[in-house]
Amino acid sequence: RNALGSLGKSRAKFISAEETTGVTFEDFAGQEYIKKELQEIVRILKNEEEFQDKGIYCPKGVLLHGPPGTGKTLLAKAIAGEAGLPFFAANGTDFVEMFVGVAASRVKDLFATARSYAPSIIFIDEIDAIGSKRGGPDIGGGGAEREQGLLQILTEMDGFKQSTSQVLVIGATNRLDILDPALLRKGRFDKIIRVGLPSKDGRLAILQVHARNKYFRSEMEKDILLQEIAELTTDFTGAELQNILNEAGILTARKDLDFIGREELLEALKRQKGTFETGQEDSKEMPEELKLRLAYREAAVAVLACYYPDPHRPFTDTDILSITSKPRMRYAEVSGRAFARKSDYVNSIVRACAPRVIEEEIFGIDNLCWISAKATSDASIRAELLILQTGMTAFGKAYYRNQSDLVPNLAAKLEALRSEYMRFAVEKCSSILREYRSAVETITDVLLEKGVINAEEIWDIFKKAARIAQPHVYP
Ligand code: ADP
Repeated sequence: RNALGSLGKSRAKFISAEETTGVTFEDFAGQEYIKKELQEIVRILKNEEEFQDKGIYCPKGVLLHGPPGTGKTLLAKAIAGEAGLPFFAANGTDFVEMFVGVAASRVKDLFATARSYAPSIIFIDEIDAIGSKRGGPDIGGGGAEREQGLLQILTEMDGFKQSTSQVLVIGATNRLDILDPALLRKGRFDKIIRVGLPSKDGRLAILQVHARNKYFRSEMEKDILLQEIAELTTDFTGAELQNILNEAGILTARKDLDFIGREELLEALKRQKGTFETGQEDSKEMPEELKLRLAYREAAVAVLACYYPDPHRPFTDTDILSITSKPRMRYAEVSGRAFARKSDYVNSIVRACAPRVIEEEIFGIDNLCWISAKATSDASIRAELLILQTGMTAFGKAYYRNQSDLVPNLAAKLEALRSEYMRFAVEKCSSILREYRSAVETITDVLLEKGVINAEEIWDIFKKAARIAQPHVYP
């Protein structure tokens, strides 16, 4: 233990070493399938020889990716803890320094140290800091230096033969998209596991883990309270849930109470939310590229809203301050849809395509992201409703509640007609956005500069760009 303990300080400050982490899979809650996969690896690590006889080898590298605070470090420690192996951790950002050659030599150090204690685990957090794509834009400088470090990681991982692979390398990142593909090749990080935000059940399980050492009036009250908190915390990470319980514990102590109650939990939740909304976290989470994508999406939605003003729901304003997967254009609710015509339905399909069409136009088909995924399915659902439920199309006049009511040949007919509408809508939407490209650009600029734009400004910009609309025919 001492040998390991002093190593952290004397030889390589950037490595933190633990002889045993003491963490187990019990400490990680939710997303059971992740644990199952990792348990498999632990089994192999523990019985390496037995598995090798059967020709089964442990992967050399496991890459955990997902948002910060979702438990990636915890999982890495649990693997070491469960297998009873020493754990050597470093952070990708520590490798990159201004001195030439540091990155490569630190990587060498890390691997040499871990090997001398093999079998062992190496954990590299924020591996994207050193492992981003080569030849890409050199954000923050140090490109050549980083590249040396990355090459060294590749060399080290290729160096140990699979049959003697006694060092398992675990990497963590929240930017899988920028990692150099060489890292993900077979024999390197060839096991890639996504660690996502927990579901409601997952959140409850996480809260239960962190409530283990806290006092509640009764087990039943604890269950009811945690259930309520789990309901209220959509999009929270495990780390944030842990914070809520800790904060509630502190509030309870401050009030000199014996048990955590509903009031303390809700107060703690409010505080956690507060830091989430106003803290630095948020701006860090909003990289320039995401802002640009959101601004273009809003601008495209706005232009389509002007092109096909919906008499039932005139839009009011738009903003890019909040990140959601849905377009944020706000519409004023007006009642009375009784006279919706076929053209209104079709136009709404065309409008729904806007986020996807603009993203493809600006960023290219290989660079689409989650932002426009919802829009595509939305358009396709609208087309399905029009075909199945309105009796206004070539499908016929019958009414079907949904697709599952259809006999096979009708289902095929639905698909054919739907793709015809979708093709029409995408083409129409593209041609409108091309025609009004200048308006899209202007609105995007305003959004990037000010974050918000109101309906009046949007109309002004649109009218300046307006030409005579082309007459169109619907399928
Ligand atoms: P990451 O490495 O993904 O940024 P961490 O592993 O550092 O996240 O998470 C920070 C802390 O949050 C953990 O130590 C743990 O206490 C808590 N936590 C996060 N996710 C979970 C989870 N799924 N189950 C239990 N605790 C969790």
